[in-house]
Amino acid sequence: MHTPPAPFTGVVALDGPSGTGKSTVARQLAQRLSARYLDTGAMYRAATVAALRAGVELDDSVAVIGVVELAKIEISTDPTAVSVHLDGEAVDSEIRSPGTTAAVSAVSAVPAVRAQLVAAQRELIGDGGIVVEGRDIGSVVWPTARPKVYLTASPEARAGRRAGELGADVATIAADIARRDRLDSNRAASPLTQSPDAIELDTTDLEIGEVVDRLVELANAVTNSAD
Ligand code: C5P
Repeated sequence: MHTPPAPFTGVVALDGPSGTGKSTVARQLAQRLSARYLDTGAMYRAATVAALRAGVELDDSVAVIGVVELAKIEISTDPTAVSVHLDGEAVDSEIRSPGTTAAVSAVSAVPAVRAQLVAAQRELIGDGGIVVEGRDIGSVVWPTARPKVYLTASPEARAGRRAGELGADVATIAADIARRDRLDSNRAASPLTQSPDAIELDTTDLEIGEVVDRLVELANAVTNSAD
């Protein structure tokens, strides 16, 4: 009789900037591994919606912290039913709005906001069996994750993909990506960096399916080496 492969029980860290195909790849990978999925960017985006709704100045970190501390952010870890709630309300569209996207780097740069969300992420990761995507998963949130992968792609490919997803103009998206990269890479608190032990995968010339296949191989290699 055919026995289905055992579900993945470890933690996969998938880091990298936006437009590398990270979210699509992470969700598909989780499904292939029968694992859960955590989109940490969605948590920073929900915190940003809370700050914007409260009308606080984003450069007033004390005010931002006050709002985020009281915000109830709940996120699903089911890769087939991705959803984030803020204070009991689904905010899946609002977290992707241009206003939220423009503000998220400022909110995610506040160290106390990061400390709060990283603690929540560690709790969600719990006993593992999960694919976690973000900017600092392999470096800060879960340094023992295996495999630990850093996705890259050329600036042109990244802007083209995001513009395709959003139905927006490539030049505008390229400028927004460059701005967010700069802010995310230069902030003092856990900036976007590639861990020295992360496997870099350049997705510029790869189809999503090819990236997922490669990651399934890497995850299976970890599982097999632990047997
Ligand atoms: O991945 P996504 O584009 O949704 O992330 C939105 C923003 O959230 C990033 O530009 C970054 O500022 C922040 N972020 C972060 N650390 C993570 C995930 C996202 O700072 N682990």
